[in-house]
Amino acid sequence: MSDGLTHAAWTDAVRDGRLLGGSCGQCDTTVGTPKAACPHCGARDLETVDLPTEGVVYTETTINVPPEGIEERGYQVAIVDLGDARLLGRVDGETVGVGDDVALSGYTEDEQGYTAPRFEAV
Ligand SMILES: [Zn+2]
Repeated sequence: MSDGLTHAAWTDAVRDGRLLGGSCGQCDTTVGTPKAACPHCGARDLETVDLPTEGVVYTETTINVPPEGIEERGYQVAIVDLGDARLLGRVDGETVGVGDDVALSGYTEDEQGYTAPRFEAV
């Protein structure tokens, strides 16, 4: 049993301008958010790794009906390929498209204290 990446540690890292993920010891999967087990093979030995803070937009969408607790509307979110991991984040500034290069630009936090990374075009 290894030290799993906790949500608190992940959040602290995002606030610190870093991204942490988990690298599966049993398969090649890397996850971009804290997970108790590998989503691919179910192994529980996920090693905490630093993810790159620059990546490429895998897919994006604009949120017009946000989750409860978020007032803002019409903001863009993107799933970003960061090395081997994928991570959902908010997009700052200009709208990005699939395949665009983006970099971590900060974070956003909702009323429940849930932290999400923000990305912007580079
Ligand atoms: Zn695995």
